[in-house]
Amino acid sequence: MQIIIFGSPGVGKGTQAKILASKLSIAHISTGDILREAIKNKTELGLKAKAIVDHGELVPDDIMGGIIRDVLKQDRCKNGFILDGFPRTIAQAHLLETILAELGAAKKFLIKLDADDNIIINRITNRMVCSSCGNILIKNEVTENFQCPVCKSMNSYVRRKDDDEEVIKRRLKVYHETTAPVFNFYNGKAVVIEIDGTQSIDEVTKNILDRMDRS
Ligand code: AMP
Repeated sequence: MQIIIFGSPGVGKGTQAKILASKLSIAHISTGDILREAIKNKTELGLKAKAIVDHGELVPDDIMGGIIRDVLKQDRCKNGFILDGFPRTIAQAHLLETILAELGAAKKFLIKLDADDNIIINRITNRMVCSSCGNILIKNEVTENFQCPVCKSMNSYVRRKDDDEEVIKRRLKVYHETTAPVFNFYNGKAVVIEIDGTQSIDEVTKNILDRMDRS
C-alpha cells in the first residue's frame, strides 16, 4: 500500500501519518523530519537546507528527489509507506511516479486533509513539538519540567523555527501556489480521499480508515 498524505502545512499530516503508519504497519516517511534531522546533525544536506527550511521555502527538487529515491528503496518501505510532505511540486510528483513504477504495482491512495488558512495559522502558532520524537502538543499543555508523554524525554518541547507567523504565511503561500496543483495531478492516478482536517485527531483517523476500507 502506498499512501500520500496531502494538505497545507499544519493541517495534521504528520500526526495522522504516524497513526496510520502504526495501524497499517507501513513506514512513515516525512521529508520535513528527514531535513530537520539533517539540520540538527549539520550534515551536508542539513547545511544546504537550513536557510531554506527556516524561511519556509522549498528545498530544490533535485535534492528532494535524491532523498526520496534512496528512502523508498530501503527495506523498511517494502510493506508499503505513507509519504508525508512529498511530493510538493509537480516535478516531484512526476519523479515519484517514475520511482513507484520501478517499485512495482501497489494500491495507491492520496489522502487530502482540508482546513482554512486561519485555522492553520492559529494551530501552528499555538503548537510545540518534541525535539526527540516529533510529538505535537498545544503550547499551554507544556508546563515547567515537562516530560514528553510519548518518548518520556524531559524538557524536550520547542517551537519549530519555521512556525513563526511570518514564516507560516510564506509556507501557506508556497503551498497554494506550488503544492496545491499536485492534487489535480493525482486525479485518476490514485484513490483520492478528501477529509475535513478540522475534526478531532480520532475522528480524522476514523474517517480516513473508513473511506480507505470502502474504496
Ligand atoms: P514539513 O515538516 O513537511 O512542513 O516540512 C518542513 C519544511 O521542509 C518545508 O517548509 C520545506 O522547507 C522543507 N520540505 C519538506 N519537504 C519538502 C519537499 N518535498 N520539497 C521541498 N521542501 C521540503
